[in-house]
Amino acid sequence: MSDLILVLNAGSSSIKFEVFEAAGLQLCWGGQIEGIGAAPCFATHDSEGWMLADRRWLKNGAPVDHSAALGGIIAWLDGVTNGRRIIAVGHRVVHGGPDFAAPVLVTPAVLHRLEALASLAPLHQPHNLAGLRAAAERFPGVPQVACFDTAFHRDHPWEADSFALPQRFYDRGIRRYGFHGLSYEYIARRLAAEDPVLGRGRLVVAHLGNGASLCAIRDGRSIDSTMGFTALDGVPMGTRCGQIDPGAVLHLIEAEGMSPAEVGRLLYEESGLKGLSGLSQDVRALEASDRPEAARALSYFAWRVRREIGALAATLGGIDALVFTAGIGENSAATRARICEGLGVLGIALDPARNAAGAPEVSVPGAAVQVLVRRTNEERMIAEHVREALSAGARAAAGDASGPAYPELRG
Ligand code: ADP
Repeated sequence: MSDLILVLNAGSSSIKFEVFEAAGLQLCWGGQIEGIGAAPCFATHDSEGWMLADRRWLKNGAPVDHSAALGGIIAWLDGVTNGRRIIAVGHRVVHGGPDFAAPVLVTPAVLHRLEALASLAPLHQPHNLAGLRAAAERFPGVPQVACFDTAFHRDHPWEADSFALPQRFYDRGIRRYGFHGLSYEYIARRLAAEDPVLGRGRLVVAHLGNGASLCAIRDGRSIDSTMGFTALDGVPMGTRCGQIDPGAVLHLIEAEGMSPAEVGRLLYEESGLKGLSGLSQDVRALEASDRPEAARALSYFAWRVRREIGALAATLGGIDALVFTAGIGENSAATRARICEGLGVLGIALDPARNAAGAPEVSVPGAAVQVLVRRTNEERMIAEHVREALSAGARAAAGDASGPAYPELRG
């Protein structure tokens, strides 16, 4: 019976999971518990996406925390895995700080360092680590591998990693970390496998979902990203504002008397497409609406993404391919068309029929820049990292020092 790898993505009120065969990384099951701390709902599906369970879930009326929620997932898995072993658990961890440039095998010392990074991502890191601790407790002796949203960006040149603040702030960790790294790494690996020449080329990848950012990739490595110190910077998102003049934030606090918590709520939860339209954060709802505010919000989003494509093309010294991914990038032909309008100056030209059909390549044949649509898969990227960590561990145990070592920790 083949062994399994469990991938966990623990958020503030949810735990998402996927289970892969360790040998070939085929997806077996996935699902999520949402509403942790309130009224949890448990939904699971098989590898084809068929729903297997979908129910409200209460643990004898007791409040459900991350550990209890993970217990529920494990109990459900026990019923379907038929005795197959989970040999490692991979975790999505939003922040690896300045040091973690690759996934890391979690030891008590590593967990301590990750806890110290919580102040850099207070909305996510504590919940990611709650999931990690719960898994370590429920699977004693099973390797836990932390995979970071920031790691793929750690090789940025200094300019792309810095704000123009005095050096001591950089030294204290106020840097442009960049996020969505697992998604970008997945896309970069897949493109390199499909087309090694393009894989070494100059790519702008637009990860456009509820959270949205763009990344400049050269030779398979990230060299710049639109997100900075937090996942608030860059392009507008479902409810997040994206880049804003810091002077406006100071004004809101000093002249309008808003508290930092109120400003935080405004910038994270009430802005972006939702704030601009006053209607919805959801691109599908905005595209279905005939209200002018909906059209204006969509047009603003496309304008801002277009501007970043130009900036990243400048950083790269040219662009060989533009790749759209995540919910909006993969599914909204109208958004892709709006973004690419006016980018002829960079050699970008969409083929309307291919774009409408959501073809893998949506640029006109022979265009200077390939425009591609690719499905991202962050959970699968984590599973790949876990498998690589396991084989590096096995090589090390056999006294073979070739190949990458885990944990890879840069001081
Ligand atoms: P998250 O960051 O939460 O993972 P997703 O990648 O799932 O977000 O993207 C969610 C966004 O994708 C929403 O704005 C949604 O409206 C949009 N989206 C999903 N499917 C479509 C579609 N068929 N057409 C237009 N937009 C879509």
